[in-house]
Amino acid sequence: MTATDTRNEPPKKPDPGPMSREWYWHPDLPLKFAPYWQWPLEPAALAKWVWQNWLQFSDRSMYVALAFVVAFWLQPVGSEQATLAFHWVSWVFIRNWVFLLIVAGGLHHWFYGIDAQGKLLKYDPRPYMKRKNALYKFGYQTWDNIYYSMVFGATSLSVFEVILRLAFASEFARTLSFTAHPVWFVVLFPVLALWQSFHFYVVHLFLHQPFIYKHVHAVHHRNVNPGPWSGMAMHPVEALGYTSAMLVLLILPAHPVHMLFLAYWLMLGAASSHSGYEALWAKDRQALLLGAFFHQLHHRYYECNYGNAEMPWDKWFGTYHDGSEAATRITRDRKRQMHAQGQARKSKQ
Ligand SMILES: [Zn+2]
Ligand SMILES: [Zn+2]
Repeated sequence: MTATDTRNEPPKKPDPGPMSREWYWHPDLPLKFAPYWQWPLEPAALAKWVWQNWLQFSDRSMYVALAFVVAFWLQPVGSEQATLAFHWVSWVFIRNWVFLLIVAGGLHHWFYGIDAQGKLLKYDPRPYMKRKNALYKFGYQTWDNIYYSMVFGATSLSVFEVILRLAFASEFARTLSFTAHPVWFVVLFPVLALWQSFHFYVVHLFLHQPFIYKHVHAVHHRNVNPGPWSGMAMHPVEALGYTSAMLVLLILPAHPVHMLFLAYWLMLGAASSHSGYEALWAKDRQALLLGAFFHQLHHRYYECNYGNAEMPWDKWFGTYHDGSEAATRITRDRKRQMHAQGQARKSKQ
């Protein structure tokens, strides 16, 4: 432990849980899905979750706020966007690169640049890979991740944002207004988070098919111990698949603000969820909840938790890792089976 770890520690859990040998810190286990999937429904837990995630200061509420700033102030969809033109398209690309630079760069600087909270609330006991390693492009995990995030991740998101702006401006996609449909306008935010969870599960399952994994998804999975820049560090094919979640808005009536929320949830949410920390800790308190232990388990054990904690797709389809040692054993067996099947297929050919 570094000197910084001893100050302002959050309250210690009485029982560190069955995974404490493999993790420096982890949330309460077994890991739970969003409380609207708990049955019987616990209204108090649900209200607390909605408050913490959607209403209070959180990464999610920040992305909602940012979507409003862009949709109503920085670059509203206007009639000039009905045709492709360099000036407005370039703003889309530049803005998304800058947002990713600020969020992923800012989180990276806090956690791994100035090491602002040491290992406080850090999942992986191993230090972030700062040493030169031939596995990565340019020899370093951070430079590799920045390259893939900026060149492919943010770029493919911008391509879809441009397509949707064209669709809204030319009235190919219907624009939903708050005054005409106030309830649906609000409900669409959580609906899009659920949609993203489903889309991510399906695309991610496909990415784990052996051939695709080897040639595409392996780029992302070299980050066993991820950092904020790892979130959007993807092979171009994966980047297009992941960000294609936005295309649902070609058929689902929405406002550009919903499109932007989905974009930031996909891009900036990936930076926060790969940070490797449960929360940002500043001024003796938890300043910002980032926690994505669910996905951290995927980066450690691979064949589990293809979706996210928003919706229990993994539970329904038998790929759920709840953080326990038993789940680790089951996941390792599944990995061995998949490997054996792959070998059998190869020897038949
Ligand atoms: Zn990941
Ligand atoms: Zn994966």
